[in-house]
Amino acid sequence: MLEAQLEELRRTTLARFASAFSQENLEEARVEALGRKGTLAQISKEFGKLPPEQRASLGKLLNSVKQDLESEYEAKKHKFEQEQLAARLEREWLDVTLPAPGVRPGSLHPITQIQAEIEDLFTSLGFAVLDGPEVETEEHNFDALNIPPTHPARDMQDTFWLTNGHLLRTHTSPVQVRGMRALGPPLRMIAPGRVFRNEEVDASHEHTFYQLEGMMVDRNVSVANLIYFMKTLLSGIFHRDVVVRLRPGYFPFVEPGFELDIQCLICGGSGCAVCKQSGWVELMPCGLVHPNVLRSGGIDPDEWSGFAFGLGLTRMAMMRYGIDDIRQMQGGDLRFLTQF
Ligand SMILES: [Zn+2]
Repeated sequence: MLEAQLEELRRTTLARFASAFSQENLEEARVEALGRKGTLAQISKEFGKLPPEQRASLGKLLNSVKQDLESEYEAKKHKFEQEQLAARLEREWLDVTLPAPGVRPGSLHPITQIQAEIEDLFTSLGFAVLDGPEVETEEHNFDALNIPPTHPARDMQDTFWLTNGHLLRTHTSPVQVRGMRALGPPLRMIAPGRVFRNEEVDASHEHTFYQLEGMMVDRNVSVANLIYFMKTLLSGIFHRDVVVRLRPGYFPFVEPGFELDIQCLICGGSGCAVCKQSGWVELMPCGLVHPNVLRSGGIDPDEWSGFAFGLGLTRMAMMRYGIDDIRQMQGGDLRFLTQF
């Protein structure tokens, strides 16, 4: 009875192995016959119940069936593996004598380009390029810049506060404070860098953008000096004369403070969507450094005066290249970036 079952198992399983068309198919056949719950395991269970005298001859048969099936399985499996290897070698064949595929060169981000140009311009005018930390203290970011605790810029919605009481700098102005304290007067410095605001992101707002801060402290610095440097800066960036106007503006760190506008470069002043039909674009706050700011930088305001400006590098790049969605600037989309 068990002999017949064993012979049947040997015959059918060998046939299935022989006709297996894939490694998975072969494996299925093996599990059914030789697996832990397979036919052979069930027969072995019955075998254990037989009287000892019947076990000897049947045991031999059982072992021989098992060996036959296992060796046939291994042989077939080996054959599949060889076939797969051969197919892979054929598929991945490579002619090492062919020329390599072209490497596409990268390009500089529009903000990086403008930043480098402005740095060149200002270093040629004797300005130092300073760097400061992106995680700042409240003192550097606000107090030392004459921004009292009640100022709206301190509103929780604009600032990313860290749990240790520090913050992500909301402007590059803290580098002014660091520059004054480290270098003392007379001082000419610019500070480009990344700043952060807790803003909802849309076509004209980003939580992360780039600014460039500038400051000059010397004896008898006046608004005339400020205007001269601003015009030099703008014609350097836009490679042509631009029409500017100064409007009074309130910023706690300057006195008097101005809002510098340029005539819209897209429409030439006749009005378009970018300038909201006004013909003018607000470009940067600037002014003469507030005496309190000089004092917190360790500089005597009775002896020294200075001007400062904050330039939106991101906005500048958008104006120069006619980019109308700020989200493109940090999107990392190569189709956008390779245009520059
Ligand atoms: Zn316009």
